[in-house]
Amino acid sequence: MTAAKAKPATRARKRTATRKPSPAPILSGRELVKDFKTDGTFTRALDGVSVDVAPGGFVSVMGPSGSGKSTLLHLLGGLDTPTSGEVLLEGNQLSGLSDRDVTLARRGSVGFVFQFFNLVPVLTVAENIALPLVIAAQRPESYRQRLDEIVARVGLEDCVDKLPSQISGGQQQRTAIARAIFPEPAVVLADEPTGNLDTRTGRQVLELLKTLQVEHGQTIVVVTHDPRAAAFGDEVIYLEDGKIRSRIDLSARRASRDGTRGGEQRAQAVLAWLQKLGA
Ligand code: ADP
Repeated sequence: MTAAKAKPATRARKRTATRKPSPAPILSGRELVKDFKTDGTFTRALDGVSVDVAPGGFVSVMGPSGSGKSTLLHLLGGLDTPTSGEVLLEGNQLSGLSDRDVTLARRGSVGFVFQFFNLVPVLTVAENIALPLVIAAQRPESYRQRLDEIVARVGLEDCVDKLPSQISGGQQQRTAIARAIFPEPAVVLADEPTGNLDTRTGRQVLELLKTLQVEHGQTIVVVTHDPRAAAFGDEVIYLEDGKIRSRIDLSARRASRDGTRGGEQRAQAVLAWLQKLGA
């Protein structure tokens, strides 16, 4: 009896002793400050923001308009440089690199998705997805298999030969997501990806991003105004006046990709948290 009781305790000790350390972040911002000076006006858009994104993680960024969300995303993706602080992408420091070297570090490591899709209107869905290879005049046969796989991943099988103007807003955003993930980037950064879509379509786009995270290990950072969209993240940070005012860890709560009750649990947690913040 005593021996039987001792067994689980030993196992528990063993588990504690061998618990794996958290993996190193794939993307980090450390003490990021960003100042803008235009026409004699000084704006501190970010004021000491630190954020770590784990490999395969999903972080949502919320906050009022002008709080610094897009600026943070641009710095994390190397589209802009911080006034001070540093950005580490897959262990490499982006700050201090030349524009050319940042572009090289970013290429293949970061995919961007924007609110207004930014598709090339005269190219088909397939051509938009494989854009860099189309520009490089590569033979379609050389990337056909990869293209088919990505098209299936985002559910655009019926649209590949259509122009952006011939498909819905949701399908256009799926195309933009497909284009972002086509080079297998380590991280996808999305700035208000549902901002130009109706609620239902926006939810489907978030479901897709969640699927990419859960089933394909994609790391995702999303800027959003929508608490229900933010709830797809494992962590939500709330920016105010360029600082992180609060953050909530949702990873212990069940997430769902199909909009059922697990996802609802997270959404309720985010709504209650925002209410507490008075946001
Ligand atoms: P959010 O995405 O939360 O709406 P932004 O990051 O776009 O906020 O902007 C944060 C602050 O920085 C705002 O006051 C905005 O006007 C200012 N800002 C952003 N980009 C620029 C820029 N390129 N030049 C000057 N000011 C900017």
